Amino acid sequence: MTLENIKTQADNSLMPTYAHFPISIESGNGATFIDSESNEVIDFGSGIGVNSLGYNNEGWINAVTEQLKKVQHTSNLYYNSTVAEYAEMITAKSGFSRVLFCNSGAEANECAIKLARKYSFDKYGENRYNIITLVNSFHGRTMATITATGQDHYHKFFDPFVGGFMYAESGNIEQFTEMADDTVCAVILEIVQGEGGVVPTDFEYLKAVEKICKEKDILLIIDEVQTGMGRTGKLFAYEHAGISPDVITSAKGIGNGLPMGACLCAEKCAEVLTAGTHGTTFGGNPVACAGAKYILNNLTDEFLNEITAKGEYIREKLADIDEVKSVTGLGLMLGIELKTKNAGEIAKKCCENGLLILTAKTKLRMLPPLVITKEEIDKGIEILSKYLCE
Ligand SMILES: *Cc1c(COP(=O)(O)O)cnc(C)c1O
Repeated sequence: MTLENIKTQADNSLMPTYAHFPISIESGNGATFIDSESNEVIDFGSGIGVNSLGYNNEGWINAVTEQLKKVQHTSNLYYNSTVAEYAEMITAKSGFSRVLFCNSGAEANECAIKLARKYSFDKYGENRYNIITLVNSFHGRTMATITATGQDHYHKFFDPFVGGFMYAESGNIEQFTEMADDTVCAVILEIVQGEGGVVPTDFEYLKAVEKICKEKDILLIIDEVQTGMGRTGKLFAYEHAGISPDVITSAKGIGNGLPMGACLCAEKCAEVLTAGTHGTTFGGNPVACAGAKYILNNLTDEFLNEITAKGEYIREKLADIDEVKSVTGLGLMLGIELKTKNAGEIAKKCCENGLLILTAKTKLRMLPPLVITKEEIDKGIEILSKYLCE
């Protein structure tokens, strides 16, 4: 099928929630794919930080297909050895006590929100339900998570929104101190705001927030949906800041493309969400868990160091491009601020000429597969540099 045919089918049938780039991804290998017109394209986006092991990863495909041949789904009413093994592995590796599996980042955050509210209800009773999030954050598209998202343009059309969210300015510890009164049960933040424009949260601020949270028994929840699972060169990005959150959420790169999310909590919250208080039909699917187990096994210290080194290599290459004003982010999560050009227009030109690159607000954004090779980086930057320099 040609791109024109695919476009017509999709545009006449899908709800128009996305302004699609004019490209159809049909098959791939590593960080390179072939589109419907048989062009070879370098992928600096991996979905949106999802295909962490790239396309057609043999080990992951074997892990997934072996599980598929055994059993594809069991309800959470029953045990399954693959799910049990992965649950034990992810809690052991992350140092958290318990995990709840779900199917997306928004669901993982929903779980964290419910957990925080019940933790507080169990311990302190009613009216301690407020949750502080940051201005310019992004936490998902469900009713509670768009409310949690600290960007006004998400707070339209869908009234009434969920109550009990307050928005703090990132980096302003005085304001946070004032806001964190005895109605607050939790704070949710990203270590690097992804959709908000690859904006890092100040580490000193994070430490100060952690201190107040500890003093007041406010749960510190880190949304690691975009930053987690090796993306920044650590298993989870909060490790860079030297803080220890009570709850973290993960999704995007956790499943290499199979839908999966996770909410992990520390020992003090281990038994908050009891039987009947939360659940999911699909969450903790054995096939997704088999793939996720393969990914986690691959996130060795050596591989994490390679991710850091690749990030530095990309930064060095970007530093040679005059149009690049600044580069933000950690590891292989990079935001590129431009001097004069429009990021959206650059992304579109690149897409039509062999390179997929994302945007976030006014920046270009890179979330390449963690397995991207030096050759693929060089090829991609060459295309990018051509459109930045013309
Ligand atoms: C993408 C993202 C989400 C939402 O994840 P979905 O899987 O789309 O529901 C939540 N938080 C952050 C930080 C994200 O980047």
